[in-house]
Amino acid sequence: MERIAVYPGTFDPLTNGHLDIAVRATKLFDRVIIGVAEENYKENLFTLEERVSLVREVVKGYERIEVMGFSGLLVDFVSSHGAIAIVRGLRAVSDFEYEFQMSLMNKKLKEDIETVFLMTCSEYAFLSSRIIKQIAALNGCIEGLVPPVVEEALRRKFSQARA
Ligand code: ADP
Repeated sequence: MERIAVYPGTFDPLTNGHLDIAVRATKLFDRVIIGVAEENYKENLFTLEERVSLVREVVKGYERIEVMGFSGLLVDFVSSHGAIAIVRGLRAVSDFEYEFQMSLMNKKLKEDIETVFLMTCSEYAFLSSRIIKQIAALNGCIEGLVPPVVEEALRRKFSQARA
């Protein structure tokens, strides 16, 4: 039986830290679905369509990674695709409390889904979508921290905002 995992997040926008986790997850699972959450209660810079198409563009060379947008409960999305696990990335201690709470809650909602945590690689330990947006908004250099298409999309977004 094919072992499928969902790697959920807002990906506003995708960074090289996210990409690293997704690629590493393919070593553990046959197929990894990157689930881009609609999250309409959170202020996002990119629309769901933009976030999905950026992630899709970046992972198009990885045949075992797929990208889908979703709204509603994560555990419902996970089971509707026959996935057995949720993959999350961990950076500093500050991620731990939120991730711990989420994984216990998801376990309560659907007992047979496991959450698997992959530790960030040291190169991207400081990286978050939020910090990338802050630097990009001020025209700072984000080269090597996000895929080139994301860099370009940020440049376009902020030059429109400045105009
Ligand atoms: P959310 O809004 O659900 O936290 P994000 O898009 O910010 O979604 O992140 C998705 C997942 O990727 C989370 O588990 C987050 O901890 C992880 N993550 C984000 N940045 C990194 C990074 N630089 N290294 C490892 N994991 C990361």
